[in-house]
Amino acid sequence: MCKCSSKPVEVAVGAQTAHNHVCGCSKCWKPEGALFSQVAVVARDKVSVTENPHKLIIIDESATIQRYACNECGTHMFGRIENTGHPFHGLDFVHTELSLEQGWSAPEFAAFVSSVIESGAAPESMGDVRKTLKELGLKPYDTLSPVLMDAIATHVANNG
Ligand SMILES: [Zn+2]
Ligand SMILES: [Zn+2]
Repeated sequence: MCKCSSKPVEVAVGAQTAHNHVCGCSKCWKPEGALFSQVAVVARDKVSVTENPHKLIIIDESATIQRYACNECGTHMFGRIENTGHPFHGLDFVHTELSLEQGWSAPEFAAFVSSVIESGAAPESMGDVRKTLKELGLKPYDTLSPVLMDAIATHVANNG
């Protein structure tokens, strides 16, 4: 559900999410004041807009991930890859902290940690940032986790 107090956009996610993680890149939506976004994937046929779909806009039609956001409050509701050759085609990116329901998969790692500097984090604070992530049990990576990087490389090897 987006942050609008009236007529919020509602998205239903009909399956448990996977690969939930926090992401430091500057493209993923994050709550006000947060350094990291929280993002998970789920099969695209499990994602449906159930309320006020007319309020959704695509942030950047040319981006690999088309991020659908509410045009009033700016909350990103889900991201979708339309390029059928992309390793993650078929998976939508969702932010389960926007859900009123409990029990979504917990974050497992931190991706694109160094990129928080692009969003304004002080470079000298990065030691503390990585330490905090580790204390939270989130292993920090500056790309994606090895499992996901392997998935991308496998896709490239099979389709190259
Ligand atoms: Zn909204
Ligand atoms: Zn990101």
